[in-house]
Amino acid sequence: MRSTPITILLANGANKQITMKFLIIKANINQLRIPKMGDISKNFSRSEFACKCNCGFATVDVELLKVLETVRTHFNKPIKINSSCRCDSHNKSVGGSQGSKHKQGIAADIVVKGIKAYEVYLFLDGFMPNNYGIGTYKTFTHIDTRKLKSRWRG
Ligand SMILES: [Zn+2]
Ligand SMILES: [Zn+2]
Repeated sequence: MRSTPITILLANGANKQITMKFLIIKANINQLRIPKMGDISKNFSRSEFACKCNCGFATVDVELLKVLETVRTHFNKPIKINSSCRCDSHNKSVGGSQGSKHKQGIAADIVVKGIKAYEVYLFLDGFMPNNYGIGTYKTFTHIDTRKLKSRWRG
């Protein structure tokens, strides 16, 4: 509590000094509940898709972005993108396949907070049963927007 003297003008024209008490609330900016907005869609930012080797490859497929927003809305939980864009050398260093869709910037390996990877797989498969590449792994789900359907378990 902080006391601050201020001067007020009374109805009879006289001045009167009173003391106001203010409660100073200290808040850490990180604790304030400001909704996190993405810079390329409601919930996602380009940096989340960038190649992890810092080469600058961060092409984001619009269709992939729409799919991720759909997943975000369905589960109403934050999504962590483990890996999206990969340049050739980064793809090799993480053991990605030669034809990996991550190299085309149309794939993302995602974790939906608090949701089992297989549950995310089932939702994606039900949502887009006739195309896309969808792979279920122990801790994450791969999604890519290829036209021909592909499904696998990693
Ligand atoms: Zn790279
Ligand atoms: Zn992947």
